[in-house]
This record gives sequence, structure tokens and C-alpha cells, in this order.
Amino acid sequence: MSTSTRAEVLVVGAGLAGLSAAVRVAAAGVDVHVLEAGDHAGGRLATERIDGFVVDRGFQVFNTGYPRAADLDLAALELGWFDRGAVIRVEGRAHRVADPRRQPTAAVGTAAAPLGSVREKAALVAFSLRAGYAPVGRLLRAPETTAEKSLRAAGVGEAALERFLRPFLAGVLLEEELATSSRYVDLLWRSFVRGSTGLPAAGMQAIGEQLAGRLDSGRVHLRTAVRSVSPGSATTDEGTWSAGAVVVATDPATASRLLPAVEADAPREVTTHLHVLPASPWPSPLIVLGQPRGRLVNSAVVSDAQPRYSPDGRALVASSTLDRSREADVRDEIAAAHGVSPSELEHLTTVTVPDAQPAALPPLQLRRPVDLGDGLFVCGDHRDTPSIQGAMASGARAARAVLRRLRPGAGGAA
Ligand SMILES: Cc1cc2nc3c(=O)[nH]c(=O)nc-3n(C[C@H](O)[C@H](O)[C@H](O)COP(=O)(O)OP(=O)(O)OC[C@H]3O[C@@H](n4cnc5c(N)ncnc54)[C@H](O)[C@@H]3O)c2cc1C
Repeated sequence: MSTSTRAEVLVVGAGLAGLSAAVRVAAAGVDVHVLEAGDHAGGRLATERIDGFVVDRGFQVFNTGYPRAADLDLAALELGWFDRGAVIRVEGRAHRVADPRRQPTAAVGTAAAPLGSVREKAALVAFSLRAGYAPVGRLLRAPETTAEKSLRAAGVGEAALERFLRPFLAGVLLEEELATSSRYVDLLWRSFVRGSTGLPAAGMQAIGEQLAGRLDSGRVHLRTAVRSVSPGSATTDEGTWSAGAVVVATDPATASRLLPAVEADAPREVTTHLHVLPASPWPSPLIVLGQPRGRLVNSAVVSDAQPRYSPDGRALVASSTLDRSREADVRDEIAAAHGVSPSELEHLTTVTVPDAQPAALPPLQLRRPVDLGDGLFVCGDHRDTPSIQGAMASGARAARAVLRRLRPGAGGAA
């Protein structure tokens, strides 16, 4: 049965971008509805429970260094934290690479970690300090190249690049050539230097649910896929909505189908294997990086960072590869990363996320247009950076653009 419904603003997609836009527009007193194809709020931040374990759809973390973290009630998320840095394994031996400013006791181990000469280690520190503390404007004015070329030009040597930076960044960028824009990597590294990474007690989906919870009840319509949009309307299988503004906040591929003016960047894929161990083999919560020529990019006992991910104190391990690995093919590598026997790993599930995030190749196009004219708007991580920060920032920009159209006298900068 076809129906026709009206809203002042219609947001298509309840990921972090759409929810950020909707919450801001609603706070300005505007009547807003969100139409979401899936069965949860949060989009790519999705969590399920398997045998009592909290399992995110692919390993991901929240970083408090993101400027838009300020939009969230972090205390309510009850975040559990990873230590800063990572574990690298060289010839079977685990070495901890930590940030000595936050982890004074790890500083000695870091200085001894096999990351090249003293000069090369100093170059790594200098890269971190520049990314972390130089003004953002200066980072964005620096000549742009690929991440790999820029790290080499900064004097970071072969050992630090191959053992630490490449696998660390590959786990975040979901590509290991380090072909990503050096500007994006500078911004990303900034958030790691300035912030901490953690996991909400109820899983990553809780971040989206927190934003959705700020909207009045009945405003987020789950299982409602939008088939087409045009200025002033959106069509679903149940009927047509009319609206003064339509904000397309879907994944990039759907956005470019609904709005031909929008181009989708090549998506990055990741496969994550979840295992259970009787107990954690580590004294503290750290991400173990994959080894050069290995298939893993990283593996982490996520329940060390967030004990609520486990129902009973057993350890939950998330291990990711950039190719579609089968569990049996990487089990030995996962066991070696944690220094346990493969037979101790109990396989819980494996998930492949084909469109995990868009690429951010040079030239980085930060702040792509969100106002397409005629009351049509677009937001999502493909408009800013492929991250939680990028999604939320684009949603905030779209909300300001919508309010400029609907409430022209109310002020507010883009
Ligand atoms: C495995 C993985 C690991 C990641 N790791 C990190 C990390 O550690 N740190 C980080 O910052 N970022 C990470 N990211 C990226 C981050 O999750 C995304 O950049 C961000 O969540 C994108 O939000 P979004 O709102 O732009 O899009 P989405 O979350 O994709 O939201 C779009 C929404 O639109 C809905 N939709 C699609 N089509 C329609 C339609 N026709 N009608 C109605 N609704 C529709 C979708 O169901 C979805 O809910 C990771 C992503 C993945 C998948």
C-alpha cells in the first residue's frame, strides 16, 4: 500500500554521518526523520553477540583524538582502552613499541625495539611530534604525496617502516602499499598522538545508538530502504516522503546511485577472524602487528582493552587480513602473533566487510561539497575522510548547510 508522508528534513541512512546531521538539525527545532535500510542505527559500526561475546563487524576502534569526539558522551560509552603503541615480533621475539610520554615504564623497551638506528628512531619521533603538534593548517599546506614517500622523506628507515608503520597504518587505512595521501596520514597520526583508542562496553554500535537516542522516538525508521531521491522527495517501497531538504547519508556506492553527481571512491575491504583463548597471553592491552610478508595486518585481544567483550574472562581475539583469508590459512600466524599454540584458538566467527571504507588517495579532497542545490544534500565519510571523524564532520557540515537553507536568518558558519 502506497502512502505519502511529509518531513521538514529527511535523512537517508542512519550511520554516524546521517545521525550527526539529524541530531544537529533536530536541535535547531527542525522536524527531521531518518530512513535506514538496515536493522540498526550506526551503519558500519555494527555489533552482534555471539555466545555471549561482543563482536564488532570487523575490528575497529574509537579514537578520542578525533575532534568530533567532542560530540559524544564518552563517559556513557564506558570505553575500555588499548595502551598506546603496539607489539611487533621480530624473529619470534615480541617487542613493545609504546609512547614513552604515556607509558614511562615501556620507554626502555621502545628504545631497544628493533626499529633501526638512533637517527631513524629520532626521525620516527620527529614525524610523530610534527603530526601531533604542528598546526593543522601547516600539515595541510605541506606538499602532498603518498604516505610511503612522505615517511621515507622524513627519514623513517626501512626497519621502522616495514615492522611498525606499514602494518600499523595498513590496519587503519586497509591498504598496505601506503598509497594513501600523506596529508590524510598526517591527520590520522595526529589523532593517535593526541588521543587514546578504546572500545565501548556494548561494542562500537553503541556510538551510533547514542546519537540515535538523542532524536525523539519514532524518528529513525529502520528497515526502510530509499529507492530514489529527487529534490523535495524520497521514495521507499512503502511510499513517498516529501521534504524541504533531503540529505543522502548512505555508504558511498549507494550515494552515487541515488545522486549521479556523487562519485564513489574505490572501497577498501577487510576480513576479521574472531577467536577465543582460555586466557589472555598478554599483561596489558596492546595491538600485535602483522609481520612483513605475513597475511595478518594486526591481531588484538580486544577483551584486554574492553573486558565487557567477554562474558566470562576468556580472551576474545580479533585478527584482520586485507585479503579474503580463510581461518584455517591464518590460524598458525594468529597463534604465533600471541605466542600460543594454534590448538588453543577456538574459532568464533569470521567476517568480511567488502566496503569497509573509501580510499583516500592523493590529492586528498577534504570537505567535498555537501550542498548539491535544489534542497539535496550529501554527507558520509566519502565527503571528508574515511573514518568516524570524517563521517561525523561531514554530517555536521551537512546540517549547517541544511539550516542555512531552511533557517536563513539563524546564522551559523559552514
Ligand atoms: C571493519 C571496519 C573497520 C573500521 N575501522 C575504523 C576505525 O578504527 N576508526 C575509524 O575512525 N573508522 C573506521 N572505519 C570506518 C568508519 O566505520 C566509517 O568511516 C564510518 O562509520 C562511516 O559512516 P557513514 O555514516 O559515512 O556511513 P555508514 O556507516 O555506511 O552509514 C550509511 C548508512 O546508510 C544506510 N543505507 C544505505 N543505503 C540505504 C538506502 N538506500 N536507504 C536507506 N539507508 C541506506 C546503511 O545501511 C548505513 O546504515 C572502519 C570501518 C569498517 C567497516
